Amino acid sequence: MIPPTFDYLRPATIPEAIALLQQLGDDAKILSGGQSLIPMMKLRLARPAYLIDINRIAGLSYVKEEGGHLKIGGLTREAELESSPLIRSKYPIIHDTARVIADPQVRNMATVAGNLAHGDPANDHPATMLALGAKVVATGLSGVRVIPIGEFFVSLFTTALAQNEIVTEIQIPVPPARSGGAYFKLERKVGDFATAAVAAQITLDAGGVCQQAGIGLTNVGPTPIKATKAEDFLRGKKLDEATLRQAAQLASEAAQPSADLRGPAEYKKALVKELAFRALSRAVERAGK
Ligand SMILES: Cc1cc2nc3c(=O)[nH]c(=O)nc-3n(C[C@H](O)[C@H](O)[C@H](O)COP(=O)(O)OP(=O)(O)OC[C@H]3O[C@@H](n4cnc5c(N)ncnc54)[C@H](O)[C@@H]3O)c2cc1C
Repeated sequence: MIPPTFDYLRPATIPEAIALLQQLGDDAKILSGGQSLIPMMKLRLARPAYLIDINRIAGLSYVKEEGGHLKIGGLTREAELESSPLIRSKYPIIHDTARVIADPQVRNMATVAGNLAHGDPANDHPATMLALGAKVVATGLSGVRVIPIGEFFVSLFTTALAQNEIVTEIQIPVPPARSGGAYFKLERKVGDFATAAVAAQITLDAGGVCQQAGIGLTNVGPTPIKATKAEDFLRGKKLDEATLRQAAQLASEAAQPSADLRGPAEYKKALVKELAFRALSRAVERAGK
């Protein structure tokens, strides 16, 4: 339970952190909240020779609307999302997500950027960010690169981030009027990773017809999954119960779960179907308010 030895570096600026990443190469890892990296080091699943702690870099922690986007800074903690009046009132899907991650101690340290950068399909934010059509802002040697979330998750624990890039911001388009979203997760006990979870974000027109739908799935495949067939099916339709149930069926068909200690694959697919129906129903209810 004691991690292997490592050198600890604490840059004061983003350019300094990027220069260290460039200089030290694959032997170095960014340390944010440490809530995934340190447990992996203790289990000897990660053995970085250098930890580059970015926690003292100023100006990276914020939640604000600007230029048509919700902007979440690269060092924003889960606890900040939970307590943000803006998130509670306008982005309930993010509030749903943040509050079911781990426990308060973990949420006080863990960052949203780290939750995405870790590339773990069991993490909760990826599905929500897929449903919201987020963009990941990565800063590297050659400046800033904006990565659409649909291109961010490459394979298990692998993202589109280059070795010398740091996630400095997450951007979410401000949802139009009559939008709503929800995140539903089943966990074996409070604080556990999801057996399965579903994020759904819906925009309706004035007549109650679906204009836009986003659906993301947690922990039912090697990467977080965007249920595109279910999204396409919903667009242009009135969202009655039968339509939502059909979309939920399509979402469950997009899941690629494996059997593990949380249950057999068929059980997880059935779970996705029910959670998708519940998340979509709540999203429609919230969009109508
Ligand atoms: C007991 C426990 C229970 C948990 N339960 C859940 C859960 O239910 N749901 C859930 O989603 N998560 C859960 N987690 C995991 C944890 O919440 C997330 O993975 C965490 O948010 C990662 O963020 P961090 O800031 O702690 O990242 P770190 O642990 O510091 O880093 C994780 C990885 O991302 C990289 N990284 C971090 N920040 C950046 C950045 N800005 N730019 C580039 N790379 C970066 C690091 O180099 C490392 O590879 C749990 C963790 C614990 C300890």
